Amino acid sequence: MSQQHQDLIDRDRKVTFHASTHLRDFAQGDAPGRVITGGKGIHIRDKDGREFIDAFAGLYCVNIGYGRTEVAEAIYQQALELSYYHTYVGHSNEPQIALSEKIIELAGPGMSKVYYGLGGSDANETQLKIVRYYNNVLGRPLKKKVISRMRGYHGSGLATGSLTGLKAFHDQFDLPFEGILHTEAPYYYHRAAEQQGMTEREFSQHCAQKLEAMILAEGPETVAAFIGEPVLGTGGIVPPPEGYWEAIQAVLAKYDVLLIADEVVCGFGRIGADFGSHFYGIKPDLITVAKGLTSAYQPLSGVIVGDRVWAVLEQGTGQYGPIGHGWTYSGHALGCAAALANLAIIEREDLTGNARDTGAYLQQAMATAFGDHPIVGNVRGVGMLAALEFSVDPEQRRHFDPALKVGPRIAAAALEENLIARAMPQGDILGFAPPLVTTRDEVDEIVTRARRAVDRVTDELVREGAVQAVRA
Ligand code: PLP
Repeated sequence: MSQQHQDLIDRDRKVTFHASTHLRDFAQGDAPGRVITGGKGIHIRDKDGREFIDAFAGLYCVNIGYGRTEVAEAIYQQALELSYYHTYVGHSNEPQIALSEKIIELAGPGMSKVYYGLGGSDANETQLKIVRYYNNVLGRPLKKKVISRMRGYHGSGLATGSLTGLKAFHDQFDLPFEGILHTEAPYYYHRAAEQQGMTEREFSQHCAQKLEAMILAEGPETVAAFIGEPVLGTGGIVPPPEGYWEAIQAVLAKYDVLLIADEVVCGFGRIGADFGSHFYGIKPDLITVAKGLTSAYQPLSGVIVGDRVWAVLEQGTGQYGPIGHGWTYSGHALGCAAALANLAIIEREDLTGNARDTGAYLQQAMATAFGDHPIVGNVRGVGMLAALEFSVDPEQRRHFDPALKVGPRIAAAALEENLIARAMPQGDILGFAPPLVTTRDEVDEIVTRARRAVDRVTDELVREGAVQAVRA
């Protein structure tokens, strides 16, 4: 590493609080840092000019790839005209209007209005407020509880961190809040359902029964909403088992529970459809979007409100006056301009189609490279989302001792190969979410580098006696 790069990192250690970081180790220089200075296509480069394939698209958000001047231009042009004016009490800007029209068109029938925020967390915060308001207006003050899933990820604020079903986001923060509950994760492999002789469909029924039992135990008159990602993301990149969403929606309809689809990762093409909801036949009342909306060229999120909820919100303001909700930067003109340019690229280059086609190629390539690997228990994914789950004994589906930190070690080995893949926060899982512009050749390169990384750590584990024998 160059002195210049090192100096920057040292300055950073003194003044910056980084997410998901061992704060003491980083501050004291015992955990690595890196300064990223640029990117083009699916590559990023650091201060030393070292280039990495970013097979996680930032945090599954840079869907159109890095360095798209068209988006930079759109932001610049908008900034020359109007960077910002608030959107309270009916004020708007032209990009906001055009963007809302576009989002409503993409979301399809039944979706009415868009409220903007800056990130997925604040958008889900808006969702929770809408759910409360809705039931108060309908005269159901007890109907306030929200059910999320274990391993769901919905943000890291106090309320949205409560929705998130990952231990690391709760411990020491006194979360989850009361009134937010977590039901079974739709994680067929993890629950070793096959070993209990359950088919995927039966497991989906089992998840729906668990949900119904929870609603009945709490009292249906107290349960307001269910929130879920079409594909579990940060919780391990887990596509739902067959029939899952159909079974869940039947339960929600039975007890008049609103459905919030958190499309922060799936929205705008990632799994080969405009929305994950379209892909899985989900009919949500409310949708959360962020990330792929702007491909992270600007921070922007949105809450898409369906007709049924919208009618009640209107009714509520008829009763109580203007709604008491708002962010200073909602509908920010630069964010909306970036989103319009980004969505235009996705449409023109048919990146959703690429996520479907090249995504299928990615799934196939992963299965070929790792299907038989001695420490890979599960290869899964859909579209441009993929994961490898490591296992000390794939046949018996036994997990590694967490102390071995197999997932993070493999991610570190991948980095040595100049490949960025993400060690998911719970379990030994390596996640892939390459930009939607990724080509088949680039997929081959990603898989080749990943295979070298996994093999390297496998050899180490054999030497350490952590895995017994190596089949391949
Ligand atoms: N919802 C989902 C499904 C996410 O994956 C994320 C972030 O990864 C969020 C919400 C939170 O978004 P943000 O980090 O922009 O607040």
